[in-house]
Amino acid sequence: MEQTVVIKQKMNFTPSREGKKYFVKTFGCQMNEHDSEKIAGMFELDGMTKATIEDSADIMFINTCTIRENADDRLYGTLGQLKKWKDEGIDRKLLVGGCAAQKDKELVRERAPWVDVVIGTHNLTNIINLLNQSEDWGPITEIIDEIEDLPTDAPSIRESEHSAWLTIQIGCNNSCTFCIVPSVRGPEISRRPSDIINEAQELVGSGIKEITLLGQNVNSYGRDLKIDNKSRPYFAQLLHKLNEIDGLERIRFTSPHPKDFKEETINAVKSLSKVCNQIHVPLQSGSSDILSKMHRGYNKEKFIQKVDMIRGIIPDVSLTTDIIVGFPGETEEDFQDTMDIVKYVEFDSVYMFQFSPRPGTKAYDMEDEFVEQDIIKKRFQHLKDVQTDISEKRLKRFVGTEQVLLIEKPSKKNNQVLTGKIDSGQITHIDKKNVSTGDVVEVKIIDSTPFYLKAELI
Ligand code: SF4
Repeated sequence: MEQTVVIKQKMNFTPSREGKKYFVKTFGCQMNEHDSEKIAGMFELDGMTKATIEDSADIMFINTCTIRENADDRLYGTLGQLKKWKDEGIDRKLLVGGCAAQKDKELVRERAPWVDVVIGTHNLTNIINLLNQSEDWGPITEIIDEIEDLPTDAPSIRESEHSAWLTIQIGCNNSCTFCIVPSVRGPEISRRPSDIINEAQELVGSGIKEITLLGQNVNSYGRDLKIDNKSRPYFAQLLHKLNEIDGLERIRFTSPHPKDFKEETINAVKSLSKVCNQIHVPLQSGSSDILSKMHRGYNKEKFIQKVDMIRGIIPDVSLTTDIIVGFPGETEEDFQDTMDIVKYVEFDSVYMFQFSPRPGTKAYDMEDEFVEQDIIKKRFQHLKDVQTDISEKRLKRFVGTEQVLLIEKPSKKNNQVLTGKIDSGQITHIDKKNVSTGDVVEVKIIDSTPFYLKAELI
């Protein structure tokens, strides 16, 4: 609430929807979650308050995704269900944004004419304006193909009081054949370092202890910025600057691209006290042939070299990855290459996906090489079984060690327990006696389960 007041004062905005309630439904990745926080921020700026359930909302915003499985079916299925929601209330408004809106444009309202506003990924800060226009003139679609600068003044209402996303870059210059991001989010645009530092300082001033830097390819941050009249990678320097902010406890970042990892970034992770000891290296596949078909820009050997370089500098770093099982043309041998890397690296955790074709991507057109569903499922299960054992083993290495824990929230399953993360990102439970959410405390890890650690105060 306090945060909303500050935002209103800062933006000198006159609310026009006092008393109305909004609900934001988010599909997809962290970028979408953070965009939804900004949408919520702008709605509150306009006088609205958050509805606890969909039925009590006057304004519904659907933040769509094109990445997850059957995203298109889910979107139009959801919009179909929301027609009933809209018809049941007077003056209810249905707004659609995110990657699927950017991709489908007018098609959204052709297939769901009851939608009032369709807005793209580049112009979110115009949402209140478009809502006003739709009330005056009827349904409206506004999709912008490209922007030149990142809007930096969008307010956000955050889900967490202690941790916040901080966008440092949008878009992507790569062309992975399974991914829609370059066509819906445009080319890479980096925010100016001073804007990022200012926002980080403001976040710390409002009680935030941990920030997660967000971008599609964070370790190429700054390539598009001119510094001393030449473009150059700047991510490590950005980490150094953020590390100097008083009151900030932790810095995380996601998602980097393996091919763009520089030694200076890894050295920064090692040497900077606030940058957490955790690195995400999205493998996608362990087969050089499949990596080439994915347009990933590295092969199996180069990926291993990157991991060896990272582990050479920080032996005890936590490594996480993404893997797509069943990319078109994946043979048993290709899958075995993936399993070999999984066993070699021993990632702390793996985000696993079964390939499913996304309209608008090159992989969608590789129909002749699609792998049968039952084969994909079998390989996926095998990867899951092997990784579960590895993750369990990796968690055990913390038992008996002393760690610093940021306590984030109550456990969903046990009301006597609070949960948070240690520096290297592992979920850790602690008895709620003598601690509160937001505390940063020194703990001893006393036990591990397959999915989380248990700790006690030192
Ligand atoms: S690096 Fe590849 S997967 Fe990541 S956003 Fe860019 S195109 Fe998509």
